[in-house]
Amino acid sequence: MGSKMEFTDLYINGEWRSTSDRFDVNNPATEEVLASVASADIADADAALDAADAAMKDWAARTPRERSEVLRRAWELMTARLDHFAHLITLENGKAGVDAKGEATYAAEFFRWFAEEAVRADGMITHAPASGARIMVQHKPAGLAVLITPWNYPAAMGTRKIAPALAAGCGVIIKPASETPLTMLALMPLLEQAGVPKGLVNVLPSRRTGALVDHMLHDPRVRVVSFTGSTGVGQKLLKGAADQVLKPAMELGGNAPVVVFDDADMDVAIEGTMLAKMRNLGEACTAANRIYVHEDIAEEFTKRLTDRMSALKLGDGTDPSVDVGPLVNADTRDKVADFVADAVAKGASVECGGTVPEGKGFYYPPTVLSNVSEDADCVHDEIFGPVAAIQTFTDQDEVVRRANDTEYGLVAYVFSEDFKRALQVCERLEYGMVGLNRGLVSDPAAPFGGTKQSGLGREGGHEGMLEFMETQYISASW
Ligand code: NAP
Repeated sequence: MGSKMEFTDLYINGEWRSTSDRFDVNNPATEEVLASVASADIADADAALDAADAAMKDWAARTPRERSEVLRRAWELMTARLDHFAHLITLENGKAGVDAKGEATYAAEFFRWFAEEAVRADGMITHAPASGARIMVQHKPAGLAVLITPWNYPAAMGTRKIAPALAAGCGVIIKPASETPLTMLALMPLLEQAGVPKGLVNVLPSRRTGALVDHMLHDPRVRVVSFTGSTGVGQKLLKGAADQVLKPAMELGGNAPVVVFDDADMDVAIEGTMLAKMRNLGEACTAANRIYVHEDIAEEFTKRLTDRMSALKLGDGTDPSVDVGPLVNADTRDKVADFVADAVAKGASVECGGTVPEGKGFYYPPTVLSNVSEDADCVHDEIFGPVAAIQTFTDQDEVVRRANDTEYGLVAYVFSEDFKRALQVCERLEYGMVGLNRGLVSDPAAPFGGTKQSGLGREGGHEGMLEFMETQYISASW
């Protein structure tokens, strides 16, 4: 099988390393093989750890301004090649061009934001109230970081970790998702060009993921594990991280509620719900999963959302007229179909979509379900696909209770023109993030992250860099 892709080997110490063991990466639109990718083993992990450890010593000693300028160049270079990266993202993940371009832009922005943060690792000095000693607080690079990323954002979930780690002064080893390793590999020549030293950033695709990551988490040089993915894998990694008491950053699953009050601006609520549901065709931890609409406006809301959803064009994401690409693989598509079948069996009505199309590609059409019952599986689990599941409510306390009734706590969305009520509701929602009259919360400048089983720590904002730093306090007298 001939690979059409340029970068398909392991990236260790600034060099491409081939392996005899390889695995296929497929195009979800055509089900054809895109590339045969090298699979890292334990010896490769050791080589990457050696490289990152050696490179980090010099990198951590550089001035914040030097680190900042390398990151700034990475932003400039990536921004100049957004179409190239968007195309790669579409090929391996399936998402439509508009989603892929949005992701590439978002991914590049982490380099710009953390170029700006690299020079702002502020400390503090104060007088101890009783002893009179000075309390001096500073932040230092935490050490080597192992970064594990999911397939739904092949570029952005990586840059959201690489950029703050480099800003903080850390070296990294990235294990990209096996479904989508190509975008991250293709980013490496760009980082070299930006001035990232050899060995500081290493990429290890692997089909022996569990053993490989576990080995790295038990290397004494590793101090941070930063993971984005499912809650189940996050729980395993937290257990693995316990042995060396690593600093964990966990961005895990979600079950986002959307609450539309009867005083919402209907245009804003429809637009926001479309964005919260259909950005990345629903394959996002932030995707609207349960849509609670006040009974008095439910009919109009459902009709307008159905009109918008059924107007979206489904197809191969490389076609610029397409709005919705295929899901990433057959399992994800089948899971979405199962959620719909289960909801319908429990009384939901299909307003549009709901049928898997014939032919190649892992397509599922934009679908609206109304009258979804509280015991439907999609109310309790992430749908991770283009299905809007609508329920109704009558009372504010009741909807807050239902919205909070989940083990997840990543993001919630609220639509209301009564700001006093809206802010009261936002504060009562047990979520790390709330979109108020907005369907999008992701922003490199904001602390992204969840409560409860949606995770630990924050990415982006000022907090994102602190995840890769240790606080040191010096008690001094003079
Ligand atoms: P996943 O199955 O948890 O995989 C994520 C990553 O973990 C992949 O690189 C995977 O490698 C790796 N992995 C799997 N088993 C592992 C193990 N035993 N030890 C170490 N690493 C392991 O998740 P996914 O299906 O790719 O992504 C979907 C999930 O991610 C959803 O639940 C979604 O909500 C969540 N997500 C969360 C956020 C957030 O910021 N909170 C953002 C995006 C996605 P392989 O590919 O080789 O198996």
